[in-house]
Amino acid sequence: MTDDLHGGCLCGAVRYRISGAIAATGVAYCHCGMCRKASGAPVMAWATFPAGAVWLTGGAPASYASSPKALRQFCPNCGTQLFFTYTEGEPEFDVAICTLDDPSLLPPRYHIWTASILPWFETADSLPRHTDDGPDWSPYRAGR
Ligand SMILES: [Zn+2]
Ligand SMILES: [Zn+2]
Repeated sequence: MTDDLHGGCLCGAVRYRISGAIAATGVAYCHCGMCRKASGAPVMAWATFPAGAVWLTGGAPASYASSPKALRQFCPNCGTQLFFTYTEGEPEFDVAICTLDDPSLLPPRYHIWTASILPWFETADSLPRHTDDGPDWSPYRAGR
């Protein structure tokens, strides 16, 4: 068992804890246009956990349904994008890695939606790249 992970938004109003006993099922860079718009950054990095691994320890995030089956949660005070969940299928919880107090603890293992990658953005890595929502086992597969 490893230590719990802690994180939160920029202003500190929303805080969360991830159980160290539960491993992420996926850790990926997402190059999709909706993550880009929501974050204002060229790419977002997400870690997926089974529902129940992530606990709010302070504040309450606001939500936005970015598609009929997706909910994005963010701090209502400072706007930091924190969580992503599908409203149908397997109960999973995506955490924006860079909101962790120590984002270096969860390095991405692959890229998804590289069909939408910005022409001026490149990362110097040899991680697997998927033009869509990822490999069959990926928690990011559409509809899951
Ligand atoms: Zn905040
Ligand atoms: Zn995305």
